[in-house]
Amino acid sequence: MSDDAAALLATARATVACRLNAGTAGNVSVRADDGFIITPSGLPPAQCEAADMVTMTMDGRHSGALAPSSEWRIHRDIYAGFPEAGAVIHAHSPFATALACQRADIPPFHYMIARFGGNNVRCAAYAAFGTAALSENALAALEGRCACLLANHGMLVHGRNLDHALAQAVELETLCEQYWRTCQIGPPILLTATEMAEALEGFRWYGRPRRN
Ligand code: 13P
Ligand code: ZN
Repeated sequence: MSDDAAALLATARATVACRLNAGTAGNVSVRADDGFIITPSGLPPAQCEAADMVTMTMDGRHSGALAPSSEWRIHRDIYAGFPEAGAVIHAHSPFATALACQRADIPPFHYMIARFGGNNVRCAAYAAFGTAALSENALAALEGRCACLLANHGMLVHGRNLDHALAQAVELETLCEQYWRTCQIGPPILLTATEMAEALEGFRWYGRPRRN
């Protein structure tokens, strides 16, 4: 199996180690030459081998013994709609999912919201898992963003590569916990559009460390 499949499995296992996912919840994919490689449906990452990762074409075809994740359409539609997306992570992480059950967007309570591309992280309208309708709703919520919540379900992020997508998923879950905690004290004071514009500008250069 390819290095890409081994890296994909390592990231799927990392989503469990980071407590973003448990059991068979969630799925991960990485862009490949003519499509993408995705985790199989219904198998915990600990029980998978690299050879179990499923290679798919952009028209939804796959080969091999195992079925691809039931959410393959979301992954495929993100690769089709976001040329910068190199990897996609879907998780049922505790705080993001708790907020997603409120069916509300996460407002600019913290400047790190800008890390996901705009002044909020939207919550996609509800649709049943594994459906084209859920992918349609997710893509609408992702417009101009690299993350969204999925109503009564979980979260979704895309990143430049597997490591970046994992870091973004951890970041979003951390922000969801922080939002939940501040809401325990009272409604947070939100950043203004001007303050968020400054933060968005900052993220044009922040977070891409380079050693000379
Ligand atoms: P899969 O096991 O099919 O990837 O489904 C898990 C999931 O999170 C569905 O939304
Ligand atoms: Zn799910």
